[in-house]
Amino acid sequence: MVDIVDQATRSRMMSGIRGRNTKPELLIRSLLHRRGFRFRLDARDLAGRPDIVLPRYKAVIFVHGCFWHGHDCRLFKWPQTRPEFWRDKIGRNRCNDVKARDALLASGWRVGTVWECALRGAGRDLDGVLQRLVEWLHGDAPQFEERGDVVAHSADPPDAANAAQTSKTDDV
Ligand SMILES: [Zn+2]
Repeated sequence: MVDIVDQATRSRMMSGIRGRNTKPELLIRSLLHRRGFRFRLDARDLAGRPDIVLPRYKAVIFVHGCFWHGHDCRLFKWPQTRPEFWRDKIGRNRCNDVKARDALLASGWRVGTVWECALRGAGRDLDGVLQRLVEWLHGDAPQFEERGDVVAHSADPPDAANAAQTSKTDDV
């Protein structure tokens, strides 16, 4: 498959996706704000720097971009170029996500994750996402996750899949 965007466009897209205040975050913030929730945005003192912190509810929310966090969903695809770089980068992000979540849970925070794929595309159901999020905030479940549809393909790096296939062949 050929990359349809050139290098400059791609890095512009990616820096847009990577930055704080990316669109999915803003969307969740504004939906919650309209429902009367007040939160703090400065989370530098918290593991993983959650996007939204609601001290009153002892809850934090991450709004994860599916590319950067290597989500097994329709929005994630391994880039064709620099496979090792991306495997390290995204692998590290995933690892950090797990560590941050565990650290937050261990220190008594409740941790919600809203994936970008729940907020994008024709099938999205923002009212449903918000409703479930609000119910979670008012409840006491330690964790919450909202995502788009699961897709068949795996988010494992392509060469890892190849390696697995190769070793299977070797066994035969
Ligand atoms: Zn996703």
